[in-house]
Order: sequence, then structure tokens, then C-alpha cells
Amino acid sequence: MSLTVYNTMSRRKEAFVPREEGKVFMYVCGPTVYNYIHVGNGRAYLVFDVIRRYLSFKGYEVLYVQNFTDVDDKIINRAREEGKTPEEIARYYEEAFLEDMRALDVIPPDITPRATETIPRMLDMIQALVDKGYAYAVDGDVYFRVESFDGYGKLSGRALEEMRAGERVEVDERKKHPMDFALWKASKPGEPSWESPWGKGRPGWHIECSAMSLHFLGMGFDIHGGGQDLVFPHHENEIAQSEAYAGTQPFVRYWLHNGFVNIQEEKMSKSLGNIILVRDILKKYPADAVRLLALQTHYRSPIDFGPDALDEARRAHERLENCLFALDAFLAKPPARTAPQRTQREVELSDSFFDFERRFEEAMDDDFNTARAIGIVFELVKELNTYLGEQEAYQTLAAPMVTSHGRDTLLKLCNVLGLFSPGRETAGDGEVKAEGAESGGDMPGPEELIELLLEVRTLARNNKQFETADLIRARLRELGIRVDDLREGQRWKYVGPPE
Ligand code: AMP
Ligand code: ZN
Repeated sequence: MSLTVYNTMSRRKEAFVPREEGKVFMYVCGPTVYNYIHVGNGRAYLVFDVIRRYLSFKGYEVLYVQNFTDVDDKIINRAREEGKTPEEIARYYEEAFLEDMRALDVIPPDITPRATETIPRMLDMIQALVDKGYAYAVDGDVYFRVESFDGYGKLSGRALEEMRAGERVEVDERKKHPMDFALWKASKPGEPSWESPWGKGRPGWHIECSAMSLHFLGMGFDIHGGGQDLVFPHHENEIAQSEAYAGTQPFVRYWLHNGFVNIQEEKMSKSLGNIILVRDILKKYPADAVRLLALQTHYRSPIDFGPDALDEARRAHERLENCLFALDAFLAKPPARTAPQRTQREVELSDSFFDFERRFEEAMDDDFNTARAIGIVFELVKELNTYLGEQEAYQTLAAPMVTSHGRDTLLKLCNVLGLFSPGRETAGDGEVKAEGAESGGDMPGPEELIELLLEVRTLARNNKQFETADLIRARLRELGIRVDDLREGQRWKYVGPPE
């Protein structure tokens, strides 16, 4: 089965043919590290995490680069406000970003270069652009001359003549065209700076991504991603400077852009002040619910974010979890001693698992249609639940094998979507960090203590000490741990303290 992807450059779906057979080289614009990331940013990284996971699932060897923009006006301003150095701010929020990514089960990119560690490459590129007549220096700044590059506007579909100074672009008399953009900026006293042929300064934002992606992935790499707000000017400028520098094209084979997360139809953004932080949402909702919410919509469509959508995603996640729990409970039971070998129903069910997998792949091959793929996962859940119900009354010798095949299929598909990441499959949902275990080695983690309390609760219930059993449950709930009494037994889950 072959993959098609929507290329922002051609504005249509294209067959995916990578530069080198069997390999995918991808770059996604990383965060500017001056703040905690919000759910909109989180969506971008989740989307590209799933794209990367799916490419690996298809058998491609993927090299994924994502940068850190660690020198920028916003970082400098934040440092000033907080009385810290820009470097302190950047390192702090870089670590916070990594924490958020871990909490969302995003697989770390293979290479995460920092802008400040790539300055010599940027200077080489800027010098070459000046030498070739694509860039000019004024008062210690260096600008890219958009009129010198023929294809300027090809990604965003804008004609240069129509791009006038005005609403969004500040007019700078020193520029030859209002859309000319800074490759290098002279630094003011007290700002981070590097020596350059044009005096002390720092790089512009766009040149960073060109320098880092070209260095690690080379000209004509496969996938460049980011949110739709990056199409113009950021990615347009990356193309202009990279293709002008290399003297060849294309800079990138496939441009992929995710849609926005909106709040009441307005883009979630730091500047509008309508943000919800990833770390705050994860205090109330499990990572997999946030993932489901992000992936239930096609990556190019907008998502309207709100508590209703989140609660709905949480319920969907619980359906998935309950199914997995029931499968595990069934597999933990002793197998039937005397029973028929295998029913016709089981033969068909086993076959259908392959069919689920094929349909899942078909959906994902269609420009990573996670919305459809999730629908197929839930059909599988329904099928498995029905089968488990039937098994209650009628066991066969093949049941464990069929059940285990179903479970494997479910987990395999979920894994492509980043759901039920390894390590979170057992011990409740495993979202509680075992701090003691990390630091002291022998200290039991919270999971073990919770399991212990639940054992005591079972004993209490068996002895009809319902008051004690209820007390344990109520106290755990206050601590943010919800205990569900299912047919198969008790199950706990960290959901955060009640409102
Ligand atoms: P920034 O740190 O603002 O450059 O954003 C990091 C990533 O998040 C970029 O790929 C942005 O395009 C993306 N992004 C920012 N805001 C949103 C939003 N509201 N919805 C979806 N993606 C966003
Ligand atoms: Zn970028």
C-alpha cells in the first residue's frame, strides 16, 4: 500500500517518494524557548510524532531533526523581565519543553540542535548569500533581498507585487523591499552576540532553520513540517535563502502543515493570551486523552478546544483502556480444560484482525488520516468487547490465542498513534511518577502503594467492611486517584484532584 501526502507547495495530495529509497529525512520547526508550551504547540509536535511513528511502521528508516530556537527577542525580553540571562531562560524552558514532550509520550527527535550552537554555519550561509548578490548589509544588519529570488511566494501562493508594506510589516527605510527579511541583526548592548563580518550581532529566526536542516539533512530532504502559521513568512523565507544559497531546488520535497487549535474560533496563541498550557491540561486529563483529542481530527483541519471535547476524548480513552483491561483480565484467567478447539466465529475473528490492520493502514496512507484510523481502532474495540462477552458463557481452547492476537493488533495500532506507550500499559495507567523509586532505589513507587491499598480494600469488602472500603476509595479520590469497580476487578487511574 502506498502513502500519499498533501504537499502545501503543490496544494494537492501526492504519492510519497522519498529522496532515498527506504529512508525519510524530516525536519520540524522546534519551539522558541521563552515560555511553557500551549496546547496548540502541543498539537504540532503530536502530529509530527504520529507521522514519524507511522513512517517507521511502514518500514522507513526515519531521521528526525527538530531545533531549539534559543536566541530571539522574546527570550531576551523575558530574561530582562525576570532579571535572568537569556541563556538561563532558554535552558529552563528547553527542559520544560522536554518534560512536556515526555509527558505526552512524544518520541524524542533524533537530533535537537540549538540555534546558538549552529552560528558558524549560519554565518557561512549569510556570507555566501551576500557574495551571490542575494543579500545586503546595512548598519550591521544583513537582509535577504526577496526580489532577487525568482520563486519568492511559491509556497504561500502570494505574488511579490501584492505584498505591500502595511498592516503587518513595519516599514523600514533601509530595506530595498518591505518584505526583505533579516538574516543577521546587529546586537544592542547587553544582548547575546557573536562576532561576524558585519560586526557583533545575532542571527534572524529564518536562517536558523535553513542552516540546521541543510547541515543535518542536506538539500532536497523529504519532509519539512510545522503549523500553518509558519507557511508565511517563515517557510517561504527558508525556501528563498536555502535555494538561493544552494543554487538548486527543491529545498524540501514535501511541506506538511498542521491546522490550528482554536478557542472560540480564535487561534490559541501567546499573543492573544488565550492559551492553555500542556502541563496544566495534563494535571486534569491523561496524556492519551489529549492525544485522542488531537488525532480525532485530521491534522490539517482546525480543532476547537474546550472542556466538552476533552471530556469526550477522556471517555473515548476510557473505552480503549477498559477493553485492554478486560483483555488482560481474560488472559490472566486459567484456560478452559475441556472445550471445543475453535469456533467458526473465532476463525473469522482472527481473519478480521488482519483486515482491521489493512484498513488502518489504508486510512493512514491517505495523508495520515488519523481521524479515520481512530474510528477503525474503535470498531476493533467493539468487536473485541463483543467477543469477550461471548467468551464468558462459552470458552474454547483457542480463546487465549485469539484474544492475544486481538490484543496485539489493538496495541500495534494504538502504538502508531502513540497511545498506551510502553511502560504505561500496566500498574493502573502508570501516570504517577515513582519519585521515591527514582531517587532512592529501594523505595516503593506510588503504584505499589496504591496496589497495596486496593488489596486491603478487597479484603475489607470480602469481610463486608464496606465503610473501610469506601473510605479507602474516597481518600484516594481526594488524592486524584479514581478507583473503578469493574466486573473484572478494581482498576485505578490518576485523574488529578477533584475540582
Ligand atoms: P512557536 O513556538 O510559536 O513557533 O510554535 C511552535 C509550533 O506550534 C509551530 O509549529 C507552530 O506553527 C505551532 N502552533 C502555534 N500555535 C498553534 C495553534 N494554535 N495551533 C496549532 N499549532 C500551533
Ligand atoms: Zn523553522
